[in-house]
Amino acid sequence: MNKNIRTITLILITTVIISACVKNPFKRVTDPSPDTTIPVRELQDYNTNPEQARALQEEYQGTLFYKGNSAKRYVALTFDDGPDNFYTPRILDILRDKGVKATFFIVGKQANTFPEVLRRIALEGHGIGNHTWDHPKLPNLSTVELVNEIQLTENEIHRITELKTRLFRTPYGSINGTIIKELQNMGYKVIEWSIYSRDLKGKTKNQILDVVKKEVTPGSIILQHCRATIPGQLNAAVEALPEMIDQLRSHGYDFVTVDTIIQK
Ligand SMILES: [Zn+2]
Repeated sequence: MNKNIRTITLILITTVIISACVKNPFKRVTDPSPDTTIPVRELQDYNTNPEQARALQEEYQGTLFYKGNSAKRYVALTFDDGPDNFYTPRILDILRDKGVKATFFIVGKQANTFPEVLRRIALEGHGIGNHTWDHPKLPNLSTVELVNEIQLTENEIHRITELKTRLFRTPYGSINGTIIKELQNMGYKVIEWSIYSRDLKGKTKNQILDVVKKEVTPGSIILQHCRATIPGQLNAAVEALPEMIDQLRSHGYDFVTVDTIIQK
């Protein structure tokens, strides 16, 4: 009997020791923090991974642009996903008051809903680009669907403004060689961006201003939006815009459209 108790006790103690070792409850958390050497900005800004983006830029020089010409102290403000009848008119008012020309990448479906706002964009001398009909992820589309997205939008922009744009921006920055070739065949320049102000990411006015102030260099193409899916989402960015323009000007920058900034 005693022998049995001793054996059971021994087994129990051994089990406790083994389980403690396996779970290692005394181990201090000394693992290094995750690798922070990858620039967060690049990961956030390009849906395509940064290496792939660089390789594509190299391969499709003259067609794919993340940045404009850095020889002059120019920046290009760009506004995506509109027009709408709320933020776009407010942004247009600010640009008019400040005497700034920007470039708007138009979603065809939105143009169809708010043609008078698109007409105003064109009348006030801003650049216009094609940003697909309803903002799909392009790598998920067949070639026929891709061409359709572009063509429908092109026709709608032309119907409303009588303009023919040769600028295109991919939704979410998602891109690959096949898409660029198709766009190239259709006569488009593909315009991505070098700075994303994070205007849709819940940032405050000052955070938005800081991003641009820190990252701006001659030739920067700045991505912002003129349509939000959540009410109030772009309030901070619209509030930041006049100051952003003043700050960049005080650092010697001139505002030009994308057409101008990509010229050699
Ligand atoms: Zn977009």
